[in-house]
Amino acid sequence: MSSTLQAALEDSYRHALPLRQGTLPDYIPQLAHVDPELFAGAVCTVDGEVSCVGDADHRFTLQSVSKPFVYALALERCGLEQVHAKVDVEPSGYAFYSMIRLQEGTNKPHNPMINAGAIAVTDLIRHRNPAGATTDILEFTGRCAGRPSMDIDESVFQSERTTGDRNRAIAYLMRHFGMIEGPVPETLDLYFRHCSILASCRDLSVMAATLANRGQCPVTGQQVVPSALIQYVLTVMFTNGLYDHSGRFAFEVGIPAKSGVSGAILAVVPGRLGVGVFSPRLDAGGNSVRGLAALRFLAEREQLHTFRVE
Ligand code: GLU
Repeated sequence: MSSTLQAALEDSYRHALPLRQGTLPDYIPQLAHVDPELFAGAVCTVDGEVSCVGDADHRFTLQSVSKPFVYALALERCGLEQVHAKVDVEPSGYAFYSMIRLQEGTNKPHNPMINAGAIAVTDLIRHRNPAGATTDILEFTGRCAGRPSMDIDESVFQSERTTGDRNRAIAYLMRHFGMIEGPVPETLDLYFRHCSILASCRDLSVMAATLANRGQCPVTGQQVVPSALIQYVLTVMFTNGLYDHSGRFAFEVGIPAKSGVSGAILAVVPGRLGVGVFSPRLDAGGNSVRGLAALRFLAEREQLHTFRVE
């Protein structure tokens, strides 16, 4: 890790640490029980060097950060055509708590980074291997993080399963339109499970670096995601990764990213590095207040914007 990158990470942490605005999400009750002061950042280069700051080994649930990986797995297992028969790639501009909306005309969910699209993609994975789908996802995300598998936070899973009626309603509507084919309870259990995967900020940075490194995990050297799929995953992250703040994030920070309501954000600088940030307080758009501030700072300092011209 270059000492300037390490210093930039530490400076971005110090820059965002004083921020205490925002609130914890309580629609998944278990998520409201975390320490709001937690804050971590990590960077992993495509050479596999990891640098961390703050509570980088504290584990949290991925929530929507699982979506790009589940999309990648569905593309790998089912192919582009089958996946995109069930989900489009159009920006929705929807909030994380968005009401039930599908595309007019096609009745497809807009993209795989919003709940409806991720549930449709999850259904495809479950359909391919009903008995082994959870293991498939845990091992795939694990390999992206440089380890054999991931764990699930059972209490968060149960908490969302008990209160997840919005997602249940979305899933039943999509089943009505043929966008999901499996039994809704089983598809949703798989969806809630991958939202409840436990990861640290260090893990996030390695997962992001796997996407930055053409799908090859820089820590293990294993090709986890077929390189031909990376462009699709990064595109939907770039256009849809931060809910209805995606346009502003693309404008200001300019790199593919995905946030989750646990306060995690994973960001990818293709060919260079992966970044993970985590802090639980969310702004009105559902994105981590400190995480966004740290990423903005880091992108500016390291000139990470995709469309920056020398
Ligand atoms: N499990 C959460 C849900 O489906 C994920 C939301 C998010 O992180 O955007 O509501």
